[in-house]
Amino acid sequence: MKDHYHVLIVGGGTAGLTVAAQLRNQPDPVEVGLIEPSEKHYYQPIWTLVGGGVVPREVSERDEADYIPDGVTWIQDAVTAFDPDNNTVTTRDGRTIGYDYLVVAPGIQLDWHKIPGLKEALGSHGVCSNYSYDTVSYTWETLRNLKGGRALFTQPATPIKCGGAPQKIMYLAADHLRRKGLLDQTDIQFMSPGAVVFGVKEFARTLEKVIARYGITFNLKHELIEVRGPQQEAVFRVTDEAGNTSEKVVGFDMIHVTPPQSAPDFIKQSPLANEAGWVDVDKYTLQHTRYPNVFGLGDAAGTPNAKTGAAVRKQAPTVVHNLLQFRATGALDQPKTYHGYASCPLVTGYGKLVLAEFDYDNRPVPSFPFDTTQERYSMYALKLYALPNLYWHGMLRGRA
Ligand code: FAD
Repeated sequence: MKDHYHVLIVGGGTAGLTVAAQLRNQPDPVEVGLIEPSEKHYYQPIWTLVGGGVVPREVSERDEADYIPDGVTWIQDAVTAFDPDNNTVTTRDGRTIGYDYLVVAPGIQLDWHKIPGLKEALGSHGVCSNYSYDTVSYTWETLRNLKGGRALFTQPATPIKCGGAPQKIMYLAADHLRRKGLLDQTDIQFMSPGAVVFGVKEFARTLEKVIARYGITFNLKHELIEVRGPQQEAVFRVTDEAGNTSEKVVGFDMIHVTPPQSAPDFIKQSPLANEAGWVDVDKYTLQHTRYPNVFGLGDAAGTPNAKTGAAVRKQAPTVVHNLLQFRATGALDQPKTYHGYASCPLVTGYGKLVLAEFDYDNRPVPSFPFDTTQERYSMYALKLYALPNLYWHGMLRGRA
């Protein structure tokens, strides 16, 4: 194994694989090494539909090896530290690997441990989460066996990947209970530390109607702080209008938890991090603010967009263009710029979806020439059938 690569990519998830494929698709491809510890790659957006019982979790999993582009060296290891002054990274296996250009894309860290009782309770007592391959099937198992009672859905106070996902599974759950004739016997509650239903008002208006249709109680300023699995109780910190906090214990028959999330620890502790721990890149060019031969994208990037695979689809060509221009000229005189595009396909029931696409300013930027703020079957079909194909055959191959 070599110990120096022209371009070194950290993380072979959505972002790392897409950038690697686009770099190798160039007429005169550069040498690329990619550091990724996992044998498997996951199409995470489909986990919402796995939790809702539409598809089994296996459809989301493929071998990483099948998606490493031809000509890219896969280093199956994990980065533990960066030394950008000397253009090297250190790995878990104790290797030091050098680079001329670095692309940092290790995703976001799930901080299950920050909610006392959560790790122990997950997978039993009705405590479930769509946020990992290991736990997602239990969401559907719990939902399928629910006979009414109380179902809670939580969102943490931190940035998360796919900001709509905590709500999407709730709407699927409500629709499932409606079909079973159990909706009236179930107290469905959403618990969010936030102050609004959704950050983009055009889509929030539609979601408010969906919430009313299902009879959901939407609790704002409620943050999950403890799960007591065996007692089937959840503890929330509630903030009132004056800013005073109190604790509230709520019993449940089912609780879907979206865990707190943060930048990976090895990024937080590195010279590449900004104050909040994310990779400190310019939000338009995605070039590092202090180390110009370093670029960052995906969930780990310190850009204020909604963290989604859809954002990566627009970020990857920006990184590739700017890295190659900087490599060719030593400057970024004509950069390609990313304007915060993200898309959140808000599943509002079986066969219904609102495709929320927006930018850094929370302005809708629809890809389709019709009113995308409305629920549509066509957009649901896009999520279930078209987008997974586009992902596996287009995006990860550097073609979309
Ligand atoms: P990832 O794809 O998570 O990849 C990060 C990679 O880095 C992983 O392979 C990991 O093994 C690797 N890595 C970690 N640590 C190291 C290390 N130390 N060294 C080297 N490699 C490392 N997005 C949408 O666009 N639409 C949706 O509808 C949608 N729904 C979602 C629903 C759920 C339930 C979830 C969980 C996510 C959803 N997303 C959705 C978000 C989307 O999956 C992510 O935003 C996207 O995968 C981010 O890509 P990434 O490459 O930054 O991170």
